[in-house]
Amino acid sequence: MNVFDHPEFDLHEGVHFFDEPASGLRAIIAIHSTALGPAAGGCRFWHYEQSDDAVTDVLRLSRGMTYKNAVAGLPFGGGKAVIVKGPGGRSTPELFRAFGRAVDSLGGLYVTAEDVGVAVEDMRNVRLETPYVSGLPQEGAAAGGDPSPWTALGVFLGIEAAVRDRLERDSLAGIRVAIQGVGHVGHHLAKLLADAGAELFIADVSRENLARAHDAFTATEVAPRDVLYTDVDVVAPCALGNVINSETIPGIRASIIAGAANNQLAVEADGDRLMERNILYAPDYVINAGGIISVAREYFEKGSADEVRDDIGRIPERLNRIFAESRANGEATNRIADELARRIVAAGRSEPRRIA
Ligand code: NAD
Repeated sequence: MNVFDHPEFDLHEGVHFFDEPASGLRAIIAIHSTALGPAAGGCRFWHYEQSDDAVTDVLRLSRGMTYKNAVAGLPFGGGKAVIVKGPGGRSTPELFRAFGRAVDSLGGLYVTAEDVGVAVEDMRNVRLETPYVSGLPQEGAAAGGDPSPWTALGVFLGIEAAVRDRLERDSLAGIRVAIQGVGHVGHHLAKLLADAGAELFIADVSRENLARAHDAFTATEVAPRDVLYTDVDVVAPCALGNVINSETIPGIRASIIAGAANNQLAVEADGDRLMERNILYAPDYVINAGGIISVAREYFEKGSADEVRDDIGRIPERLNRIFAESRANGEATNRIADELARRIVAAGRSEPRRIA
């Protein structure tokens, strides 16, 4: 398909394709917007059934990063990379060095970090080829490192805000939460929730990640196909996108959806469907901004882990405003968040931003 005609193409500033047979690298880097700063967003290493699925993913995810960075107040535009995983494909140092050269060829327009299927070690290999990378281990109290614990912290605080808003409860003790995916973020989130006294239900397709979870906290295991429909207060999607859609929404029993996954809603109208069912949706890119907040302080060498924690502490205020506006206007929370993001990007075109 011609990328200009792609339904997810949204005036992206650039879509770059890389094919390096020597290393096996097949990657796409999409730069949605640099209006607020370099286009920042993680790199996903994933198997796609068809190459068009990879294009769809990178176009949607990069636009989501523009919105996420704007609402989080960061001096970053939005971009994203996908590395297409071939059959039996593995993450190797050569592959990620080749990806690093691809990132470098864009001269700083795009800044990369970890996303699904990518670990800190991979980013170390990227760093051998380019300075336009973040999410690397840091010394002492400096901001940075693996973004996923920071993402989990933001989601945890966001779940607290949603529970306060919808269930009028100040504590998570006894609140029932179903987590879809206990990978990097889901695992950290589950630990925070368990420490706060929540009752956990977890599902994953990886036996290894489930075993790691059972070693770390108490949770009831649920089949992956059932997890969204568990009888709980909160469903936290922490695996892949598009899981909240016209087919899944009618069966959801939770009154809150608040998780880390990007692009949780298949289409905008799914936000309206959730609202009709009186399910409170915490817009994904607002609640899951903790990781990129850490990435930004690391990349611009501004501040400490404590400052990252303070910045992430502002996620609940943003959600509260969105929840309140949604109630007042009768408009779905995802639509309110998108409008807010578009306003910030439009204003930022004339007023460059800096990290405090
Ligand atoms: P990850 O790959 O470490 O974890 C994803 C987990 O989901 C894995 O354990 C995987 O086995 C599991 N999974 C896959 N398909 C599943 C299914 N059908 N049912 C149940 N489990 C399934 O990825 P991650 O870094 O934890 O990210 C999770 C989500 O959060 C992604 O959507 C990612 O884009 C988003 N996100 C991550 C970060 C971050 O800091 N890592 C930041 C923002 C958003």
